[in-house]
Amino acid sequence: MKKATKLVHGGRHAVHPPKTVNLPIARASTVLFDSLSELAETQKLFDAGERIATYGIVNMPQRNAFEELVCELEGGHRAVTVPSGLAAVAVAILAVVKAGDHVLMVDSVYGPSRTFCDRTLARFGVETTYYDPLAGGEAVGALMRPNTTVVYVESPGSLTFEVQDVPAICRAAHAKGAFVIADNAWGTGLYCPVMDYGVDLVVQPATKYLGGHSDVILGAVVANERAWPRLHEAARDLGQTASPDDIYLMVRGMRTLAIRLERQGAAALEIARWLAKRPEVKRVLHPALESDPGHALWKRDFKGSSGLFGVELQPCSKEQVAALMDHCEHFGIGYSWGGFESLIIPANLRHGRKVRPWDGGPLIRLHIGLEDPADLMADLDVAFARFRAAA
Ligand SMILES: *Cc1c(COP(=O)(O)O)cnc(C)c1O
Repeated sequence: MKKATKLVHGGRHAVHPPKTVNLPIARASTVLFDSLSELAETQKLFDAGERIATYGIVNMPQRNAFEELVCELEGGHRAVTVPSGLAAVAVAILAVVKAGDHVLMVDSVYGPSRTFCDRTLARFGVETTYYDPLAGGEAVGALMRPNTTVVYVESPGSLTFEVQDVPAICRAAHAKGAFVIADNAWGTGLYCPVMDYGVDLVVQPATKYLGGHSDVILGAVVANERAWPRLHEAARDLGQTASPDDIYLMVRGMRTLAIRLERQGAAALEIARWLAKRPEVKRVLHPALESDPGHALWKRDFKGSSGLFGVELQPCSKEQVAALMDHCEHFGIGYSWGGFESLIIPANLRHGRKVRPWDGGPLIRLHIGLEDPADLMADLDVAFARFRAAA
């Protein structure tokens, strides 16, 4: 079965009569049992690892459906639900580190993940070294220490869209016994099957493409068999859970993930090609463009491209950037991305880069939604006229 089909039907077997297409929402702290023997029997099954609910914090139907679905998407063994993408980052890392360990973190990582390492992980005696997103397996292997337990990848990188050699990095990390964690927000398992390349734990900020409608914040961590016992323990010990209403919206969004990504990816590529020819644009940062430095790796490892990319403008003033972005008809100004609507925002590298700082011109980020790409290009055409007028 193809992933697109799995995304439509996964998790639905948990439906009890009446048989509705979507799962009923069970809001629960307490789960009731008919007798002590049923309680004991359920507890026994739970302890043996069955997906059976003893209490509202575990194995409720919405959660089971979501975890099953995200597991199918990423090609993992088991998954846990967490309340945000950033929680997924934290839980995945905490699952496999201990005091005295060392983490190799890609320099182009999502900013708040970086802060988590520098602030919270450091407080628990875990040291982080940042590495070049363009580093191959050998260079990453050379940075590994005897106490390196995590090599973290995010490809393409946040805001600057560098593509990493994930299979080679996995080989280097595994040769020295480390776990590989991947943030797979951009491609998702549909376009970048990182677990096939050896990744042990996938961080999925479901807030973005999986939800797809800008109305829910949620995350998941998916583990292979090797990492599952660690992840399972960490998520339980850290009390990770999420509301069934949010998970309902998430599962509903995921049913249409494949078609949304296909349409948004195609529109984004069309707009990226159009932008690359504009005189106001110095460079488009989109790995599916033949001119992109990451294109060869992207072509080898990805099955498609999504709707998020960067644009380096020609040297210009802050006022010109504001003139470009203010008053767009179809592009909203706002954080996050992955919804059905288009967004435009200056790329904010305020979390800093250590190894590969951005040394280009003004950088902006576009997210292409489900609008007709012709309308979006017309909107940008007018925006560029404002941009030129503000010079
Ligand atoms: C948005 C994002 C996150 C965090 O997700 P939240 O649900 O907003 O916490 C993590 N990683 C990447 C790459 C993201 O873009």
